[in-house]
Amino acid sequence: MPELPEVEGVVRSLQPVVTGKTIHHVTISKIIKQAKEQGKECIIKAVDPDSFQQAIEGMTIKSIERRSKYIFFHLEKEGNPYLLVNHLGMTGAWFHVSQLSDITEEKFLKHAHVLIQFDDDNWLVYSDIRRFGEMRFLHELAEHPPLLEMAPEPFSDEALPHFLERANLPKYANKAVKEVIMDGHVIAGCGNIYATEVLFKMNIHPARKLSRISQQRKIELFETIVHVLQESIDVGGSTISDYRNINGEAGSMQHRLKMYGKKTCPTCNGDTKQKIISGRNSVYCPNCQH
Ligand SMILES: [Zn+2]
Repeated sequence: MPELPEVEGVVRSLQPVVTGKTIHHVTISKIIKQAKEQGKECIIKAVDPDSFQQAIEGMTIKSIERRSKYIFFHLEKEGNPYLLVNHLGMTGAWFHVSQLSDITEEKFLKHAHVLIQFDDDNWLVYSDIRRFGEMRFLHELAEHPPLLEMAPEPFSDEALPHFLERANLPKYANKAVKEVIMDGHVIAGCGNIYATEVLFKMNIHPARKLSRISQQRKIELFETIVHVLQESIDVGGSTISDYRNINGEAGSMQHRLKMYGKKTCPTCNGDTKQKIISGRNSVYCPNCQH
């Protein structure tokens, strides 16, 4: 699943190629249309595919930014601002190509679900093999309240005070530290891969209760999360399973991961263990993490 650094990589590659472009035509896949006819919320959320298509045709992409693990396309039509919000889910990927046959991996072409043609004839294609991704057309952010409840960006000045304030709330005291740092209300953008790495780096057992971590260690925990996310952004994210950068490029952070997906601990050479914590598989070293 693409995490914050991977989404940042996608946004950085999209910015120069689609900013200022006007959406000429939108095609929605038959799979989405059929699912929506059966009442399923498949990729395009809240509205029917025809309304979605008509809404964004003719709009200009003014800017693109990442917010947590979401991609915000800021759109404009006749002077009015709109928002297209995309979450890549498990396997979402964007391709910017001059013709569809430039998408060389068959599986991405086969699962192309939203095809945007610009007025310069280039295409921006959203492909999603498992279809857990989301796209929402909004007039304003408040139309989808969960977007307003996200913690501040981890790299912003407000993020640490927000993290400490939330992490010290009584409701989190008895929760596993891993569950808390993966909670988007506490800190934005720390998913399973990076939570696993951060806790290993700090020798903290993923199931340790938050109340057993001192204020000083909480600050270090926050700083380590930010450091690991930044390191991953710098090397283009992790290429795990079907994540691809725009135009199919792969990042290299996966070569730097020390605990995620590992059978042996790189520090003590002992066997790692796995435990399910709040529904997510957690790998850790029982010798090094307490
Ligand atoms: Zn170890």
